[in-house]
Amino acid sequence: MERQGVITSPVEGYPWSDLDTPDTAGGCGRLLKVLLDGRCSYDCAYCGVRARKGGGPVGPAEIADAFLRMHREGRADGLFLSSGIAGDVDLAMEGIVETGEILRRRGFRGYLHLKVLPGAARADIADAARVADRISINIEAPSASRLSEVAGVKDYRCDIEKRQAWVAEAMPGRHTTQLVVGAAGESDAEILSCVARQYRRLAPARVYYSAFTPLAGTPLECRDATPLWRQRRLYQMDALVHLYQFSPDLLRDVMDDDGFLPDADPKRVLAENLPPVDINTAPLADLLRVPGIGPVGARRICAMRRTAPLVSPADLRRCGVRTKDAGPFVRFGREVQATLSSF
Ligand code: SF4
Repeated sequence: MERQGVITSPVEGYPWSDLDTPDTAGGCGRLLKVLLDGRCSYDCAYCGVRARKGGGPVGPAEIADAFLRMHREGRADGLFLSSGIAGDVDLAMEGIVETGEILRRRGFRGYLHLKVLPGAARADIADAARVADRISINIEAPSASRLSEVAGVKDYRCDIEKRQAWVAEAMPGRHTTQLVVGAAGESDAEILSCVARQYRRLAPARVYYSAFTPLAGTPLECRDATPLWRQRRLYQMDALVHLYQFSPDLLRDVMDDDGFLPDADPKRVLAENLPPVDINTAPLADLLRVPGIGPVGARRICAMRRTAPLVSPADLRRCGVRTKDAGPFVRFGREVQATLSSF
């Protein structure tokens, strides 16, 4: 099985390579995703690894050999490496780090993403950061109470949050994390407040959202799958918090009374509830609320209007604005209202 940018047939006869963790691979192309150990004694109710039988550990040297062979053959550009925790977490984490070290010693300079396991030692996290392009630890749920509903073994504060602070310290600005959406019954408002805190305190490069899918043999196999549109709306919400610096309070207004986003672009919903923005006088933060205006476009508008007022959609297009989207939500000031009809 092969998905875009992800290869899932790595080590001959070894089934445990089907990690469902998104990763842009630093733009490197095809990313091989592998578990060093396909067994896990933890009890995360949404996870297919716990439901599988067999799939014992593969040695770091064996994984490194297999990956380098695929890399030479042009079948894999980067490696994402994680592991189930069949026994000692330190042993599993050391195996991940050792694999990365072998690859670097053998001259691999491409993209390497090493997963930090819950409860990993601080020294192993630092070692992982020394050899990898990216390290990450999954928070999985937006709070300790939500995680406890689906994963009784993991201690959110100690095994995850404490380690996440070490991850951020070891690789500032280049670490990532992931949430499973919908497994623990959490609302989008809970996710929003967790994610805003993440960006404020730990500055991850990005947060990934993985829509929950029920897997056969797991305790949640009869639960409904989270619709993919929810995952998509959360990514849009994330961009507004992370890249556009929207306040969580503003986004909370887009959600329903139970704290869920509608299946609509949250930026557009917000704009529909606010008065039109005057292109020539609005502060940068207000320009960013307009659909079709991104951070670059908003800065260009501010620079352009310092020399002369913007008077037409053509002026906006010169700033990189998608005028079809922006049209209903902007005005140019009273003296040039007539031009709005030309959107
Ligand atoms: S610790 Fe990781 S591999 Fe183990 S059951 Fe939980 S999510 Fe699955």
